[in-house]
Amino acid sequence: MTVASPARPESRAAGVHRLVCRNCGAAEDVDRAAEHDPCLEPATGTGFRIEAAEVTFRGLCPACRARADGD
Ligand SMILES: [Zn+2]
Repeated sequence: MTVASPARPESRAAGVHRLVCRNCGAAEDVDRAAEHDPCLEPATGTGFRIEAAEVTFRGLCPACRARADGD
């Protein structure tokens, strides 16, 4: 039994992106590849004060990819 992991600290959340497998739902963090991000600002007029933004990459995890490529 492991202790529930705390919410990601802001400093870490700002430096990683998410990987999500569209097949099995596996998700993990991945370090950013570059210092510059793609556009992470919404169109104006939302009324939100933006405090953080995340990028989620969707695709196939290594296990699902191996199964898909193996057929
Ligand atoms: Zn998967």
